[in-house]
Amino acid sequence: MNRFSYFRAESVEGALAALAADPGAKLIAGGTNLLDLMKYDVEQPSRLIDITQIEGLDTIGETTTGGIMIGALVSNTTIAYHPLISAGFPLLSSAILAGATPQLRNAATAGGNLNQRTRCYYFYDAALPCNKREPGSGCPAMEGVNRNHAILGASEQCIATHPSDMCVALAALGASVHVAGPEGQRTIAMADYHRLPNGSPERDTTLVAGEMVTGIELPAGAKRFAEHHSYLKLRDRLSYAFALVSVAASLQMDGRAIGDARLALGGVAHKPWRRTQAEEVLIGRPADDETFATAADVLLEGAHGREHNAFKIELAHRAIVRALSQAAAGTPQSQSDKRIA
Ligand SMILES: Cc1cc2nc3c(=O)[nH]c(=O)nc-3n(C[C@H](O)[C@H](O)[C@H](O)COP(=O)(O)OP(=O)(O)OC[C@H]3O[C@@H](n4cnc5c(N)ncnc54)[C@H](O)[C@@H]3O)c2cc1C
Repeated sequence: MNRFSYFRAESVEGALAALAADPGAKLIAGGTNLLDLMKYDVEQPSRLIDITQIEGLDTIGETTTGGIMIGALVSNTTIAYHPLISAGFPLLSSAILAGATPQLRNAATAGGNLNQRTRCYYFYDAALPCNKREPGSGCPAMEGVNRNHAILGASEQCIATHPSDMCVALAALGASVHVAGPEGQRTIAMADYHRLPNGSPERDTTLVAGEMVTGIELPAGAKRFAEHHSYLKLRDRLSYAFALVSVAASLQMDGRAIGDARLALGGVAHKPWRRTQAEEVLIGRPADDETFATAADVLLEGAHGREHNAFKIELAHRAIVRALSQAAAGTPQSQSDKRIA
């Protein structure tokens, strides 16, 4: 681990000033990802800016438009069990509870979860080349062990996946990310927050230098999906493991037909994977396996497998159909009893 200095920010302005003063500085919140990366020499910040003592970023409350604002420092546990979230946006609670462990969720924050980095084995091994860690050095995952890698939206530079469960639900629910920076404040739609690797895989998000996340907003309209939702996560081990494939499915039912739909995938791309066309083919159709398979075909269009991950295409197809069936029936996947009904 490199030597670094430490600064405790007491306000957003203080954190932004400290970021502006040192281009090598990094924010630290729960530290559950950043500290691991520092121990592996993947991240070598010259300064850590501790944001955990900033007041006002650790609350969840209603917005004037009936949506919900989650402060960047709210822990994953608090989000999952907060009554405004578990009643209005149970898909988000379920996705969070599918991730990590209770201890990690207690420490992990909303802002840290959004900005956690890929779990690509080659990214974590500083002895090997990696275009994400060191642009232009190469990507051993292409011909190497690529079981947990991307089947959608990958580039010739990078086939890493985004690891978060929380972000898959946020993408499906149409959340937005509130950001503060040297130019003031701005809001980024969740769909635009994470990016595909293209020719610059070192950049995970559209956050620019000197900016920080202050909160995540859930739109009031997404409450209409509370009754019919499911977060289905498939992984090699039933706990303490990242998704091979996960599906966030939300439906609004009009009797036996689908009135509206939201669908996103995790574990398959450099960002949560959502295509509105896959949602449009569901609307007005009967909630049956044929309809769900059509949506899966659209969502997975262009999927490309490699030696160790081609199986994920069929796995994702089946998981989409199953998650949509669970959502339609109003029987969401339980995250404590992990048997898939
Ligand atoms: C063993 C293990 C298993 C896990 N399993 C899962 C899983 O199954 N599913 C899942 O989704 N996650 C999983 N995680 C990841 C975990 O959810 C993340 O480590 C956690 O959410 C990161 O939050 P943090 O507050 O600890 O972030 P930190 O480690 O403090 O920071 C992470 C990154 O975010 C940046 N950052 C932090 N706050 C902000 C902010 N406000 N604005 C801008 N940038 C910011 C930091 O600079 C850093 O780059 C696992 C982690 C571990 C260690």
